[in-house]
Amino acid sequence: MVSPVRPPPTRTWVGLTALMLGALPGSSVGLASPSAPPPQELTAQTARKLEPKTAWRTRTGAWRLHEITITPPRHPFADFDDGAIYTLLRHQPQWLGPASVGSPTAGALLNGKPLPASPFWHVQVERRAWGTPELIACLERSVAAVHEQFPHSPLIHVGDLSEQQGGFLRGHRSHQSGLDADIGFYYRGESAWYVTATEKNLDRERTWWLVRSLITDCSVQYLFMDGLVAALLREYAENVENDQAWVASLFARGSTQPGIIRHAWGHRTHLHLRIFDDAATAVGQRVQQAQAWAKAHPSLAQKAESERKHQ
Ligand SMILES: [Zn+2]
Repeated sequence: MVSPVRPPPTRTWVGLTALMLGALPGSSVGLASPSAPPPQELTAQTARKLEPKTAWRTRTGAWRLHEITITPPRHPFADFDDGAIYTLLRHQPQWLGPASVGSPTAGALLNGKPLPASPFWHVQVERRAWGTPELIACLERSVAAVHEQFPHSPLIHVGDLSEQQGGFLRGHRSHQSGLDADIGFYYRGESAWYVTATEKNLDRERTWWLVRSLITDCSVQYLFMDGLVAALLREYAENVENDQAWVASLFARGSTQPGIIRHAWGHRTHLHLRIFDDAATAVGQRVQQAQAWAKAHPSLAQKAESERKHQ
């Protein structure tokens, strides 16, 4: 019997990162973002949530995870050369699937999705509410989680994401590649859009639950909000959350303490979400490579186009 040949593992992930893929509080680290070091030690509470035998205890009683190795699957376009990608881009771009091209501040969106209508939110301007399917799903999940926790919540207002094709969006530096979204806060009483949040009017329960759901259920890179709003939410979170270390880890402090929640001027009326979307970004990189290839090989690019036409 011939045993199957397996490619050598390309990355070793410490178990927690690989297993939880960002699903645990405090872990914004998915396969997407191997940069942050995963926690090495678990609390007993977290360890109990894991599959039996996944976690083990040291002689001192601390919970640890076994190290496991994951071989990332090959990308479906790995065997396509730049010319093939370019041909698809020009003739059947829908076959490429969702692509976040370039960067949020100099980018484009290909095969994105519009944020659909929902009884849970109001989209300010529909043609400016496109994102990668991952971003759309993230918003849908997180707002639904607020309604699960607090039935009969008022609707929330969603501002700009990206335009259908991405690119420069008036009023923003980013929002170009389908990974950004401006989301309103929950206020006490009436729902409102672009109202300055204060200690009096901010519905901290619901807004915190939204922020919490974004962090635990999506692959969030940043949440930008005004420092005052962040302070109000932090104070609330410290009262209701069991895991204080986790809460503290979420809030950035200047350049010394990193964290997902960051202060940004002009964000007292809404928060700005930026997600990681590895799949769409990987395709976006191939699209950029293919465009560079076409620029460097104009006659080959032209040939690829006309051959296609004559088929
Ligand atoms: Zn924004």
